[in-house]
Amino acid sequence: MTTAAGGVLVIAAHPDDPEFLAGGTVARLAREGREIAYVIVTNGNKGSGDRNVTSVELIPIREEEQRQAARVLGVQGVEFLGYEDGELEDTRDLRLDISREIRRWRPDLIITLNPYRTYSNFPGWHRDHRTTARVVLDCVYPLARDHLSFPELLPDYEPHKVNFVGCSTGRSDGRAPLKMRST
Ligand SMILES: [Zn+2]
Repeated sequence: MTTAAGGVLVIAAHPDDPEFLAGGTVARLAREGREIAYVIVTNGNKGSGDRNVTSVELIPIREEEQRQAARVLGVQGVEFLGYEDGELEDTRDLRLDISREIRRWRPDLIITLNPYRTYSNFPGWHRDHRTTARVVLDCVYPLARDHLSFPELLPDYEPHKVNFVGCSTGRSDGRAPLKMRST
């Protein structure tokens, strides 16, 4: 994977997605001196098999785990959008929020999930992952780029063109390579 130097924004559905699906890449980019931030779309409040923990208790635990993991990899910022885990829909609010985060962080490269469910793409089996990836791609082009989209974001969040997008693609052998596209 080769991109120009510039900021990197990882946009994922749940706390732990960035490390599961692109942790090695994130670590390498951080080591190369790239400025990296995460946007985590949901609050992760369904992601536990522990019958003794409630969804309310889980939110701050998973946020803190995500912050610590990001710190270990050299990530500068983590933003939580707070959508309900497992119930993510492609709404105007979500498109607005993600477009705003793209315009705020102004990355050269976005790393996100895979918008497709295939037999061998295990991460794509989670609907939040597919929804996140689909919305991110819609925001990269055209919503974050065009000034007439979401005029309420102006003048605080000026339009931004993202140069590269990487979608993490799970495989049946457990590896999760990134597919890179220039926008
Ligand atoms: Zn996830």
